[in-house]
Amino acid sequence: MSEASIYQSLRGHMAELRLTAAAEVLPRELERARTGDLSHVAFLESLLAIEVEAVHARRLASLTRFAGLPSPLHISDFDFEAQPSVDAKLVRELETLQFLEDATNVLMIGPPGVGKTMLAIGLGWAAVEAGYRVHYTTAAELAARCRKAALEGRWSSVMRFYAGPSLLIVDEVGYLPMAAEAAAALFQVVTQRYLKGSICLTTNLGIASWGKVFNDDPMVAAAMLDRLLHRSVVFNIEGESYRMRAHRARAEATRRAVRGQ
Ligand code: ADP
Ligand code: MG
Repeated sequence: MSEASIYQSLRGHMAELRLTAAAEVLPRELERARTGDLSHVAFLESLLAIEVEAVHARRLASLTRFAGLPSPLHISDFDFEAQPSVDAKLVRELETLQFLEDATNVLMIGPPGVGKTMLAIGLGWAAVEAGYRVHYTTAAELAARCRKAALEGRWSSVMRFYAGPSLLIVDEVGYLPMAAEAAAALFQVVTQRYLKGSICLTTNLGIASWGKVFNDDPMVAAAMLDRLLHRSVVFNIEGESYRMRAHRARAEATRRAVRGQ
């Protein structure tokens, strides 16, 4: 075979194997090998490294899209000093993602503005960047999606969807009271993930008032809590809203400036 037909055949193999990134840089890399006197091994390694990097980038982009995390903030952006009721060491431990391996749940309980969502999303990013499948939803969105699926006869497929990710973040449980139907959907999601996949749930309701979210059905609330808490890490976050705090600090600075102090 001539050099040219070997080259054409190589391009054919690369297309068949979908080595698109490597194919794109092939002429450049061949030239580099010729002029830089690379060994065969070094040439092949650098070519495949380019493909591997592209595959990783594609996977990360796809996991990121699927996760739907609503903010780019990471755990490293969290100001632990401003929030002494959050055990920083425990958060760092969760960041190792060991908890995903034994389907431990994480509950963030506290009033609005104290950083529950930010921490949940930060754990979400850590998991996405480590290659786990993560999905973020609010309790209201989960309920709406399940309702729609039920109406369209797709109940089992929506349940499979929520069973899939290694980490399911359910934000804002308890902000709105749930209709019996919505509570049943959340209950089923929690039940089917029990001991199989982690849930990170945020809520403004103390555990004692969970009956209220579930349409005053203390049995459903108790059964759900049982499953959520059986293997779990719970953060009871206290204190005032981070935004209010920042707002107050700014207002105070303005007042001082006006007074010329
Ligand atoms: P919650 O979910 O508890 O209502 P959020 O996580 O939405 O609160 O926090 C409200 C806002 O304050 C967000 O913009 C968040 O990034 C910010 N915030 C809260 N706590 C902290 C913190 N300790 N360090 C940095 N930003 C914070
Ligand atoms: Mg929130």
